Amino acid sequence: MKKPNLRLGCHLSSADGCFLAAVQANSIGANTFQTFTRNPRGGAVKPIEEMEFDEYLAGAADLDVSPILFHAPYTLNFAAAREEVLRFARDTLRDDLLRLERCPGQLYNFHPGSHVGQGPERGIELIAETLRTCVPAPCSTTILLETMSGKGSEVGRTFEELRAIIDAVGDACPAPLGVCLDTCHIWDAGYDIVNDLDGVLEEFDRVVGLGRLKAVHLNDSMNPLGAHKDRHAKIGEGHIGLDALVRVLKHSSLSHLPFELETPNEVDGYQREIALLRSRL
Ligand code: FE
Ligand code: FE
Ligand code: ZN
Repeated sequence: MKKPNLRLGCHLSSADGCFLAAVQANSIGANTFQTFTRNPRGGAVKPIEEMEFDEYLAGAADLDVSPILFHAPYTLNFAAAREEVLRFARDTLRDDLLRLERCPGQLYNFHPGSHVGQGPERGIELIAETLRTCVPAPCSTTILLETMSGKGSEVGRTFEELRAIIDAVGDACPAPLGVCLDTCHIWDAGYDIVNDLDGVLEEFDRVVGLGRLKAVHLNDSMNPLGAHKDRHAKIGEGHIGLDALVRVLKHSSLSHLPFELETPNEVDGYQREIALLRSRL
């Protein structure tokens, strides 16, 4: 059965602004997209006008491209041991969220952080403290913790760690707080979405609550279950496989969410993957 409301897109550059990224998304069959808020490796930020938020907001309905899933630079560490590293991450988060008030109501995803030997409990507390103290109010953006593969000392490798962060934030974050589920990451973390998708989602619901789930990163994985590696593969070319990823896309607990591809592709490759996935709905 066709799902007319399925939101499926991919990671795109917004170097020329969000409006042109939305036009590009539309041209490749995507009706949502993900983009970095700034240079993913550094902190360089472009003048707010060049993000073309107003142009995007004016044109989004006609283009039918929404929501935008903004991704924080992946080099930020909200569980850092070094004061200046932590401060840089927190200042960047605050600045990103202030800027996103010019494009209200979108999603903002970040990697919780790496505890760098301090232990997951300390990492969880530092991440929660960030969300308690560094989110500007009011904040119309929904903030998402990304599920992680568990490479190195990453926090967020289990659903329990995400729950612990959410619990430690409590009511103190002015923004809605949710989770972005990355299929490559949870597979690498040891959740068997190939043979037991229902069981994994039941576990997520029991531990975190499916109501917290606001977006999905749809990626294949170059590595076997539980490898804790985090290397994305093209759809159907990894250990998860096309059939399992189609089941994720069609699952009744997930099909209302925006799905973003972060596979190793240029734009034409994304276009082919979107067409392939849509042909399997
Ligand atoms: Fe990510
Ligand atoms: Fe991801
Ligand atoms: Zn990844």
